[in-house]
Amino acid sequence: MTNATHDPALRSWVESANDGATDFPVQNLPWGVFRDERTGWRVGVAIGDRVLDVAAAARAGVVGEAWEQVTGPTLNALMAESPAQWTARRRAVSDALRADTEAGRRAAHIDGLTRPLTDVELGVPATVGDYTDFYASIHHATNVGSMFRPDNPLLPNYKWVPIGYHGRASSIVASGTPIRRPIGQWSAEAAGPPTVAPTRRLDYELELGLWIGGGNALGIPVPIQRAGEAVFGVSLLNDWSARDVQAWEYQPLGPFLAKNFATTVGQWVVTSEALAPFRSPATSRAPGDPAPLSYLLDAGDQAAGGIDVRLEVWLRSERMRSEGMAPHRLSLGSSTDLYWTPAQFVAHHTMGGCNLRAGDLLGTGTISGADPGSRGCLLELTWRGSQPLRLPSGEERRFLEDGDEVTIRARAERAGAAPIGFGTCTGVVMPAA
Ligand code: MN
Repeated sequence: MTNATHDPALRSWVESANDGATDFPVQNLPWGVFRDERTGWRVGVAIGDRVLDVAAAARAGVVGEAWEQVTGPTLNALMAESPAQWTARRRAVSDALRADTEAGRRAAHIDGLTRPLTDVELGVPATVGDYTDFYASIHHATNVGSMFRPDNPLLPNYKWVPIGYHGRASSIVASGTPIRRPIGQWSAEAAGPPTVAPTRRLDYELELGLWIGGGNALGIPVPIQRAGEAVFGVSLLNDWSARDVQAWEYQPLGPFLAKNFATTVGQWVVTSEALAPFRSPATSRAPGDPAPLSYLLDAGDQAAGGIDVRLEVWLRSERMRSEGMAPHRLSLGSSTDLYWTPAQFVAHHTMGGCNLRAGDLLGTGTISGADPGSRGCLLELTWRGSQPLRLPSGEERRFLEDGDEVTIRARAERAGAAPIGFGTCTGVVMPAA
């Protein structure tokens, strides 16, 4: 599980990485892509308040050899490698960034190996071939279901089958990209007739994104015992949603235009290996709930297949920004509230032979817990707009307004491990075109 790269005593020659508050200590080493005024997109690793230029480190000879094929403009080539190769590369980067190694002592004296994060632009980590969004928080599913079906909130399939839909890869955008309020077809009355207008119920969804590594051949399912290895890493994800469009269009085939206009991903992919100290048991099922079917059931996955990450959503309105006010926290939740594990997503997605490819993205679905303060979208927090929340500026919110800035953050903390974070996943709402 854990190895020398997780040792909480490790220190980096990048001094900011040794500050306990950083998201990016030397025990994290998340992968991303960046560019600056000098060169195009290339692979980097976050370390403290800087990014390691991996190709420059390779040229300088501090991370070993054979990096040319994985230091291009996206992480796809790295994700296509094997878990053993990912481990070797992580070990090499760790050695180059540690203060107490021969490689680290040399790297510390080479100019240009790292750049301040404030001086670079961060992109979408990989070219996403296919994007699937699950619906794996039972609290979210129950809350949303009860708004539409008070007598029957949770449909009979929920505890048996990981519910999901095939999403849209082309509109996946980098953190920081402005989000244009979509125009859509929606109806104030369930029976119609609809209007065509900018959505009045724009929402965010707090999610984690699982980045697929390796991949499986068409027709060959990934067994649950090996499905965890198919997840290269995890990033933040915001599944922007137009609730009025969704309510009008979702039956009988599920979300369509309500969710295809933009999905924001965080800048950094925290590897499954970096998350090893923060694994948790699969969510315990309530008495009377069915056990997972055999193709979704593995003792190791049940014991440690979950991820224990603390999740926060922050909102800052245009007025709050202009008045210099700090963002306001809307929710605080945990990924341990997911009903299915990452391995179960992969095993289910591939059971019929569907091929997942390196760089594919699986969203967990909105992550909400039992506590009202942990609800992961405004639909739930304001109960479909019926209970507006108040911002520190005095403004009320039922759904997102133009100028609102939504930021997701996450952090993993556990005794005996160095705490790690995910950076940010942020976007500002722009007026409709
Ligand atoms: Mn979603």
